[in-house]
Formats: sequence, structure tokens, C-alpha cells
Amino acid sequence: MNHNYILTIDQGTTSTRTIIFDNQAKMVAKSQKEFTQICPKDGYVEHNPEEIWQLTKETIKEAIDIAKIDVINIKALGITNQRETTVLWNKITGQPVYNAIVWQSRQSQEICDELIAKGLEGIIKDKTGLIINPYFSASKIKWIFDHVPKVKTEALKGNILFGTIDTYLLWKLTNGKVHATDYSNASRTLIYNIKELKWDEELLKYFDIPTNILPKVLPSSYLFGYATALEDINPLFSKIPIASLIGDQQAALFGQCCFDGGDAKSTYGTGCFILMNTKDKIIHSNKGLLTTIAWGLDNKVEYALEGSVLVAGSAIQWLRDNLNFFKITKDCEKFVQGPNPSQGIYFVPAFVGLGTPYWNNDARGTILGINRSTTKDHIIAATIEATPYQAKDVMDVMIEESGYDLRYLGVDGGASANNYMMQFQADLLNQKLIRPICQETTALGAAYLAGLATGVFKSKEQIKTLHQVECVFTSKITDEERMERINGWHNAIDATLQYKNNKLKEK
Ligand code: ADP
Repeated sequence: MNHNYILTIDQGTTSTRTIIFDNQAKMVAKSQKEFTQICPKDGYVEHNPEEIWQLTKETIKEAIDIAKIDVINIKALGITNQRETTVLWNKITGQPVYNAIVWQSRQSQEICDELIAKGLEGIIKDKTGLIINPYFSASKIKWIFDHVPKVKTEALKGNILFGTIDTYLLWKLTNGKVHATDYSNASRTLIYNIKELKWDEELLKYFDIPTNILPKVLPSSYLFGYATALEDINPLFSKIPIASLIGDQQAALFGQCCFDGGDAKSTYGTGCFILMNTKDKIIHSNKGLLTTIAWGLDNKVEYALEGSVLVAGSAIQWLRDNLNFFKITKDCEKFVQGPNPSQGIYFVPAFVGLGTPYWNNDARGTILGINRSTTKDHIIAATIEATPYQAKDVMDVMIEESGYDLRYLGVDGGASANNYMMQFQADLLNQKLIRPICQETTALGAAYLAGLATGVFKSKEQIKTLHQVECVFTSKITDEERMERINGWHNAIDATLQYKNNKLKEK
């Protein structure tokens, strides 16, 4: 048995993890540390890039200590990251010029509104597959240029670099030698042309972004450089290649082995992110899906369609923290009793509006169908069911617009541990759900890509043989029951949107 390992950094929105996998894709160690969420004003969310870098090093050290492995057997490092989050730093001093502006942050809304008012949505969507929204990096870069003194002059002198978190960590790990990103991360910036595979000069002009700050865009599975900055942890690190960079949702798609056209995965966390592999096809959506680059591998890029549910697991947290229905999240499943536990109650958790396919910022949550015998248990069941209903709405649009039939859905994320939720999802989709043993699919995707670049994994076919299934869910309801439930949900959505209209009329 040869003992080769891949070390993966999974730099997420609330925590940084280092996970070490062996060459059978088994997790051998994990270290995770949370970091500070900086919220200076309403709607602002920022991170300290230097704190992220320090914690990354700490988790690497800790994971190696836990794994008790010889560093010489680590054949590659992989990086997967929270996408879109933007860092600008001075390449001479290495100091960030401002905090990292996080994907969720709304501080660049005005910049986006101006571009929307100029009628640029069509052209930007055509070139990037995205909508004009503060979520993506470009308006965040402009915001830093507009608000932080001297950054513009320093940029003109060629001293400023831009990166998403993958790029920043790569630059730090290589002691400032390599300034690069991969196709998947570049495709989330709103300035990258996903058809022509280049930074788009016209878009850069709209955002007033100089080209000299931009990283080189490379395949997701590639020998980017060496982690010389980790020499103080172990001198051998200077010989270990950093061999993958990939955005977190795309990494999960790869980690779920969604390699064929129409293969899809759904990650059930705070929100729910659904991606479908569309191979070499750029499919533009008219119903609220995003088009994105899945990864660059084997001298080509592949594309994906993406849809998001804004409130998924966070509705369960709301039951726990605001309504005090239970103390421990996983206990919610204990309250779900009998064959139809929601008893006709529908909960549309539109706390912050509705995502794909409705994209309505003004909608707010509703609970419908309550009668004298409604109990807490019914509300809990309706809350759990709300996520599968929303994911089903996304999947319907994906299937319609992609032209693919769904063969199965790979599931992961914290809330996918809920068996009732997963069974309900299979019932609604009338399709097979596959929950893998390794729930760290994001880190695993980055490990696979790093392993492919270094020969630890031979091919996607070999990787498929390593993919281990923990549970398969298939529909247990009749077509009639399915239709009845889905009709009820759509009535609830109509009522929710109607409620917003009533509110507007009152004003
Ligand atoms: P993220 O990466 O978005 O922080 P995770 O993948 O860690 O999220 O999942 C955490 C979310 O999943 C929380 O919102 C939590 O309420 C929800 N969750 C965790 N376990 C369960 C469960 N057994 N049933 C329902 N929801 C759950």
C-alpha cells in the first residue's frame, strides 16, 4: 500500500479548514478554525485577510499533527474557497489595502444600480453568465478604489494586486511568487468573459478596473507553484506543489463526481446551492439561473448552471433560536411524525426575499394553512419541507433550460444529514438522491483536482470508483400525492408574492 496524501485548504465564509485525504479519497485528518465576521455597517460583511492567512497556517499545522503522517508523503496541496470575496493588497509590503469584502456584502449596491440604470445588464450577462449584483467581485474592487485613499495611485504605479481568496492564499503560500486564479473563480468576478476566456476590456472599463492588478487565469488542476511559506512548519513544504484552485460550489460538484452533462449536486447549508454540469455548453438562462465555469481541466473548460435558495438550513436555525422550538438543530427531525407531518401547512421562508426562479427582494416569509389543531410539530415539518420545495423549483428550471434529464442528485452540506428532508426531496423530484459517505465534498473536489495534476489520481474514471455512497433516497409517494403537494406549494408562493403586492398598495 503506498501512502500518498493530498492536503486541502477549504477556506469558507465562517471558518477555515485543512483536511488531509489519502489516495483512496479517505479523510485522515481535519482541523477547523472560525474567524471574525466584521460588520462595520448594516449590510457590510468583511474579513481580515491576514487573520485568514494566519488561521490557514494554524490549521495546516494542526491537521498534520493530527494525521501523524510524514510530510514527504503529501504529494500536493489543493485550495477551495468562498467565492467572489475580494482582496486588494500591496505587492511590495504584502499588506491588504482594505479588509476582504465578502460575497454577501451589499456595500457596492450603488455601483451596481448605476450600471443597471445604464442598461448594461444584457451585455454583462452575455459575457459573464451573471447578473449585475454586489455579490460578485467587480463592484467590490471599484468600491475599494473609490473609498480607500491612495489605492488608485499605487495601482497606477503597478503596486496593487487583486485576488479572490484562492489567489490571495496562493500568493501568500508562494511568498509572493505566483499571482494566479483558476477559471472557476475568475468566472465569478463579473469582469471575466466566459466564452472568450479572458479578462474583458469593455467590462473592466465599466468598473474602472486597471488590468495590471488582475491575476493570471489558469486551469483548476495545474502546478501553480510551491508552498515555500510553509517551510517553518516543515522544510519539505517547499517541494510540495499547490496543484488545484477551485471555487467552493464547483469543488463540491467535482467532489460529488458530477462529471457528465446533466449531473447535478445540491448543497444544503445555510442556503442551498444547486449546480448542474453542462459540459462544453454555455447555457444562458431566462429564469434566474447563473451560468458559470465549472472548472478548467484537461486543456478545456466545462460549464455549469447554478441556482440558489437563499434560506434553507437557516430557517431551521430560526425555529431553534427565535421560536425556541428545540435546543439542538438535529433534534428537529424528532418532531416529524406520521405519513404527512406538515398536515397541509406551508412555510415560505422568504426572510430576505426569494431566490431562483422568483428573484424577488421584497417578498417576506409566510406560514399558510393554519387551523385550530395546528401544532409546533406541523410547523417544524413545514419548515423542513420548505427547502426541498425551493430546491425542486430550481431543479425544474434547470432541467427545462438545460435540456438534460436529471439522472440523480448528489447531496451534501450540514442539513443533508436530515433524513426526512432528503426523503421529501426525493419524493418531490421523483428522482434518486445520492448522499456520499464523505460529506466534505468541497475539500474532496479540490483534493481530486490536485491529485489529477500530480498523478495521485489517474483519471476521473478512477475517482468514480473511490466515490462511496452512504445512502440513496428514492421517491415513496404517488404522482398524485406529488402533484397535490407541489400545487399547494405554488399556491403558497403565489400568496406570498400577493402579500407583498397588498403591502405596496397600502403605501
Ligand atoms: P454552511 O456551510 O452554510 O455554514 P453547513 O453545511 O455547515 O452550512 O450546514 C449548517 C446548516 O444546516 C445550518 O443552517 C443548520 O441549521 C442546518 N442543519 C444542520 N443539521 C441539520 C439537520 N439535522 N436538519 C436540518 N437542518 C440542519
